Amino acid sequence: MRFKSLRARIAFVVVLMMLGAQAAAYVVISSVIERNAISNAQEQLAVAERVFRQVLSTNAEKLTQAATVVAADFGFREAVATHHESTVVSALRNHGSRIDADLVILAGLDGKLIADSRGYTHGSQAFPFRALMQTATHGSERSAIDVIDGRLYQLVAVPVKAPLPVAWVAMGFLIDDRMAREMASLTSLDVSFFDQQPDGRWTTLASTLSAQRTAHMNPSDVADDRYATRVISLTSTGKPVVVVLQRSLTAAMAPFHRLQSTLLVITLIGVLLSIAGSIVTARSVTRPIAALKHFARRVGSGDYAEPIAVSHQDEIGELAQAFNRMQEGISRREHRITELAYTDRLTGLPNRAMFSDRLQQAIAEALPNETPFGVMLMDLDRFKYVNDTLGHPIGDLLLREVALRLRDALAVHSGLVARLGGDEFGVLLPDADLADVERVATQILKALEQPISIEGQPVDVGASIGIVTFPDNGVDMNVLLQRADIAMYVAKRSNAGVARYEERYDNSSAERLSLMSELRRAVEQDQLLLFYQPKVDLSTQTVKYVEALVRWDHPTRGYVSPDQFIPFAEQTGYIKTISYWVADKAIRQCAMWRDVGIELAISINVSARELIQSSLPDTFAGLLRKYNVPAELLWIEITESAIMDDPNHAIETLDRLHALGIRLSVDDFGTGYSSLSYLKRMPVDELKIDKSFVMGMTENRDDETIVRSTIDLAHNMGLKVVAEGVESEAVLQRLTDLECDLAQGFHLSRPLPPDRLEAWLNSWHEARCVTGVR
Ligand code: C2E
Ligand code: CA
Ligand code: CA
Repeated sequence: MRFKSLRARIAFVVVLMMLGAQAAAYVVISSVIERNAISNAQEQLAVAERVFRQVLSTNAEKLTQAATVVAADFGFREAVATHHESTVVSALRNHGSRIDADLVILAGLDGKLIADSRGYTHGSQAFPFRALMQTATHGSERSAIDVIDGRLYQLVAVPVKAPLPVAWVAMGFLIDDRMAREMASLTSLDVSFFDQQPDGRWTTLASTLSAQRTAHMNPSDVADDRYATRVISLTSTGKPVVVVLQRSLTAAMAPFHRLQSTLLVITLIGVLLSIAGSIVTARSVTRPIAALKHFARRVGSGDYAEPIAVSHQDEIGELAQAFNRMQEGISRREHRITELAYTDRLTGLPNRAMFSDRLQQAIAEALPNETPFGVMLMDLDRFKYVNDTLGHPIGDLLLREVALRLRDALAVHSGLVARLGGDEFGVLLPDADLADVERVATQILKALEQPISIEGQPVDVGASIGIVTFPDNGVDMNVLLQRADIAMYVAKRSNAGVARYEERYDNSSAERLSLMSELRRAVEQDQLLLFYQPKVDLSTQTVKYVEALVRWDHPTRGYVSPDQFIPFAEQTGYIKTISYWVADKAIRQCAMWRDVGIELAISINVSARELIQSSLPDTFAGLLRKYNVPAELLWIEITESAIMDDPNHAIETLDRLHALGIRLSVDDFGTGYSSLSYLKRMPVDELKIDKSFVMGMTENRDDETIVRSTIDLAHNMGLKVVAEGVESEAVLQRLTDLECDLAQGFHLSRPLPPDRLEAWLNSWHEARCVTGVR
């Protein structure tokens, strides 16, 4: 039999064992009882035989005494002698009745019956127990049991002496059913007397049993397992007479049977109790197991809310405690794992994974009602510079400080700040519209403007923040993050600090994709053009330098400004292809002009992304060789912020470029973070003052101050200065006064295609009557 449940198995085993034990006990006790009953009955039989014999011998004595008294009676002896029959009979009766004898007989020595108390006086009748008389004569045994006229008697015979024996007095008790009952009451046995007929059959003489019972009894063979039987032979002479003592075993065992049924009841009660007990035990064992199972399932599904209640002090209790410890351990480790998985180790802020999760969650929550919320991506400006100049430990401390300030700045807004990696941070502002987000962004920037000092060193760090809002800028996490990234890039490029995403940056990723393929086609199909803008030498009025500026002659959009596709190309990595195209085109143009006698140095703009490419110097060297152009005619313009983003890398590349003979110019100077010590270490040849200072310098005194101090600074460092964005004669004049070396701007010339530049050059030189290089 197989049980699925432990409870049933335990119950089954316990019940089985109890049943076995009870049954064994029952069998053993029963057999002991039976044996006891039988031996008890046997003992009773033995006792009964003794009692029986005792009764016989007492009766014999009584009879002997009475018979002796009669035999010795003078009157009786005379009556015998005188053959006075009636006297004899009355004497016999008198004496017999004294002891309630049933038979008193007087017999002659010849054995002939003389008188009989029963009234027989047939002189011819023979004395029925001659044998008894013979044994009595010899004095050995006076008592006998014999059948007379089909009835059983205990008899004694005593001689009548005068003085020699003249007759025999015999006196006897009838052994009948009454006598049997008396015996039975003494011994509490069944008593039956039988005699055997000459043909061997036994006839019942007296019995306590019914005739029916005795009819089937055979004293020679009394084997009957229902009775304990003892057969006692009563005659030694004459025909066989026996008394059969019987004890019904059923009766003998009756009290034992009562005991047995009591035992059976006890056994049954025990079995029932054991069944109940085993069920209760099984349940008490399995109930906590079931609870543990339930608990384990709960823990398995990740619910560690509450421990299991420990009510047992036993092994189950210990198991429950072990479970609780396990649950604690799991939940602690899971907590730790979650912590590790969701926290940035350095700053303790949530990490990118957490940020993504929460953003996803915020989207799901805000989606039904389109509740607005904001997301910001923030990138530190010049972090690499700090890291490289002051070392990583300081960089780490700086990140921690920034993290602290971000946290403080956002404390009141219940927003989430996360470090997404490197010097990039993300902010999630629930329930915030664009105005709210912009306000927070400004607060963050303000917080970072406060001077930061790390280990006593002042560290100047800025940040660029890109802002998007849900659902205006997208309802998908990736779209939102991508657009925030674009906005951040715009902020960085424009040095604006904060920029919010605008559709014109990137309408959709589909449009970006199409722009990408269009740009690729632009290069392949020669839609790109290089325009050249001259830089005029203010002291000599000569033009020896031009800046190459890329143009996109888009088939449908017309001329697309580089400001619109260069950032995109930088983002997608396509800038590499464009740069190569520009460099190839510019250097070839340079060679072509040289061929026609126009000696112009060409400046090429190189973006920050390319600056960190170690292959850049080799590419330029290859192209210079290809077109056989001296390196001195190639200038590279790099924005100040591009250099400061990763100064060590920049310096390495710049050194290599410079070693080739290529000249270097710092573009947009004044907008980024200037480190003079860095500038000094760099092989720079020229500074280009950003056009934002130049254009309004005649109206704005601050701008003029910046321009003037930049010129002074450059000269002090032995560098040339170029002012770009010269849009008026006044500015040109002022720059000349300030002894600026070169000027570039619409007032002098817009960027022009090569042939138109040549024309411009001619007219320029003619107008000033100066001799060209020609
Ligand atoms: P930039 O290097 O600062 O280039 C100067 C920009 O100022 C040019 O704009 C030029 O047309 C403009 N400009 C010149 N004179 C004046 C003036 O008097 N007033 C005003 N308002 N603007 C003047 P452009 O050509 O649209 O180029 C924009 C930017 O695109 C450039 O700024 C440069 O950073 C980038 N760029 C252009 N060509 C290339 C290129 O071939 N490669 C890379 N990497 N970047 C390029
Ligand atoms: Ca430039
Ligand atoms: Ca510039």
